[in-house]
Amino acid sequence: MDSQIKQIHQQLMNKDISCVKLVQERLDLLKANTNNTVNSLLDTIALQLAAKVDTKIANGETIGILEGIPFGIKDVYMLQGTYTTASSNLLKYYKSAYTATAIQKLLDVGAIPIVKENCDSFGHGSSSENTIFGAVKNAINPDLVGGGSSGGSAVNVAKDYTVFSIGGDTGGSVRQPAGYNHVYGLKPTYGRISRYGLMAYASSTDCVGPIAKSVEDIRLVLNVMSGKDVKDQTTYASAEISESSISNSRDIKTIGYFKNFIESEAIDPDIKADFLASIEKIKAKGIKVKELDFFKSDILVSTYYTLAMAETASNLSRLDGSNYGNRIEDKNLKESYAITRSENFSEETKRRIVGGNQVLSQGFSDEIYLKGLALRDSISENFKKDFEEVDIILSPVTPATPPKIGESLKDPLAMYLSDAYTVGFSLGQLPTLTIPQGTETGLQITAAKNNDELVLKFANFLKDTI
Ligand code: GLN
Repeated sequence: MDSQIKQIHQQLMNKDISCVKLVQERLDLLKANTNNTVNSLLDTIALQLAAKVDTKIANGETIGILEGIPFGIKDVYMLQGTYTTASSNLLKYYKSAYTATAIQKLLDVGAIPIVKENCDSFGHGSSSENTIFGAVKNAINPDLVGGGSSGGSAVNVAKDYTVFSIGGDTGGSVRQPAGYNHVYGLKPTYGRISRYGLMAYASSTDCVGPIAKSVEDIRLVLNVMSGKDVKDQTTYASAEISESSISNSRDIKTIGYFKNFIESEAIDPDIKADFLASIEKIKAKGIKVKELDFFKSDILVSTYYTLAMAETASNLSRLDGSNYGNRIEDKNLKESYAITRSENFSEETKRRIVGGNQVLSQGFSDEIYLKGLALRDSISENFKKDFEEVDIILSPVTPATPPKIGESLKDPLAMYLSDAYTVGFSLGQLPTLTIPQGTETGLQITAAKNNDELVLKFANFLKDTI
């Protein structure tokens, strides 16, 4: 199977390249890059780790498959001793006190972190323009946005600056930038990978997600990061996904797609035509395709943003300059909190804090927040019924192609609506993967909860089908 990780592993084992050289080359590319993907380089630690790998190889020891492989980390994950800024002014100088479980598991198998990557501040956005480090530029066309919020991570993979990157997906932040930059990006089932050490945005949908250039690399990285963690009570134990188990798709008999996604007025005509052409190719392989009914996009988007804003307002209340971040002193404690938060949070983050506190406040919470929770239950119910009829749901990743840099900042509502096809699956906590095929911004493959294996299996099938 096509795998960048396996290819580099072979080169290291054959001594075609030293690990120090490999890491140094990627660091140089990152340093010289003009796409604004880097918040900080981890050169010292990366080169130290690389030298150790070289010593092992020189001593004739075997190395693990991920050992010595350089990877990137969205700047919302803790890695002890490194800056973790969330691309925000508030945490511009914050250094992680501990390491996130998902990242620790990668370190334990010898993968080498080389960069903390630019993203929308606290995950708030769909373009990676809401950042103090400059807008991330698209890997294919630098006049366009890199997508968000894990834009720096997707661009780094697309440009081969990192072999894989770890993004975070709350409502599409791995899948959408993967689609915008023509790479793979997985949002696993909620709870498959521990969120411990991932800065919380909306805890009920936050997922750790790998971005890579092949299905096989996604599988390798997913297996390492998965598993129950006592530090995150929403995690569950999952079986490892083997290479052979995803290499044939005989058990996928029926797939479905949401009719209203494709008939929506907001969809770009080329994305629609390309999606329907992919459906025809799948049918030609003998797979049955069903049209499914689903909630309207604006209901999905408003339900998601109601809940995500409520959760982020609550999660970010801890950031007041006392324990973390840039504190600005004022005449009393209350004023110090106020000025610290109003000066150091971005416009977009403040919009979400205000919105979130509004929907949670007395007099509004029944009307808005509880209604959002009820809708979420109905959405999950809908998915449950769908997966009694179909094995996979296929959809476009986005209704439109990436906007020009600057456009999303002018129109936040349009930006929220661009998440129409990703947020529903987040509310359902389902496993869902972007593949760089089918439409200009890719296709999204979704399966029932805990069925991440089926998603990867169908992705392998589509690789040779469309
Ligand atoms: N664009 C969505 C939002 O801003 C999703 C972001 C994410 O998944 N972190 O909420």
